[in-house]
Amino acid sequence: MILNNIKPKRVLLKMSGELLMGERAYGIDPETIKVLAQDIAEVHEKGYEIAIVVGGGNIFRGREGTAQGIDQCTADYMGMLATVMNGLALSSALEHLNVATRVMSSISMDVVNEPYVRSKALRHISLGRVLIFTGGTGNPYFTTDTAAALRAAEMNCDLLLKGTKVPGVFSEDPTINPKAKHFQYITYNQILGDDLKVMDATAIALTRDTNLPIAVFRAQDRGAFCRVLSGEGVYTLILKEFPEGYDHEGRIDLPAN
Ligand code: UDP
Repeated sequence: MILNNIKPKRVLLKMSGELLMGERAYGIDPETIKVLAQDIAEVHEKGYEIAIVVGGGNIFRGREGTAQGIDQCTADYMGMLATVMNGLALSSALEHLNVATRVMSSISMDVVNEPYVRSKALRHISLGRVLIFTGGTGNPYFTTDTAAALRAAEMNCDLLLKGTKVPGVFSEDPTINPKAKHFQYITYNQILGDDLKVMDATAIALTRDTNLPIAVFRAQDRGAFCRVLSGEGVYTLILKEFPEGYDHEGRIDLPAN
């Protein structure tokens, strides 16, 4: 599969908290994080500039808190704090591989990481440091998917990579219906119109408005991050329009004969 002529140099990887959990039911699995860090190091080695937004769902999600009677804003702040722990764990795993990192947070926590300042972030990334954004957007009622769309735009990234547990966008959840259709390409509007569960609607709308392509791929597969960037492997590319020759379902429009 081709990357539709996108030749990414600076990319943002969105890693959900769930990815860091491995087979565990909660928290961080050190072996899993090590493997993910190796993939990131491999991409870094190839000269890509990398920013990462980490989620917090493996530790705490706002809606779990509200279900327990915690006020929504407070629960969301707790979720944002969870992302800081994940970011520090990922930074440590990368530093063990001799990859220089910087962790920046949208929520001021100066002793453990730098506050997010766009100009400083741009400098870190252009110096080849892997930049890990934590604290989401810093605002309740948002998600780290939206933080990923926002930071990718602010960092002038060419591509947003969304690592999930399945290799792309499907018509239905493929873990429930194995016959669900896989899309090679899909548009922002189709995702919003069909309410496909890829990223939340705010994130998709922001990437549409900033015309930022998104590659959705299965992040647990060893080397998957690198393969997507070389246009290999199975994934879905979310764009404004279908590339020439592809039908409205993202499949190659074969000549009729
Ligand atoms: N969160 C928030 N604002 C943000 C980002 C995150 O309030 O800008 C909170 C929200 O409660 C969310 C939690 O942090 O449930 C963890 O983030 P998310 O669910 O996006 O993590 P992921 O599912 O990617 O692991």
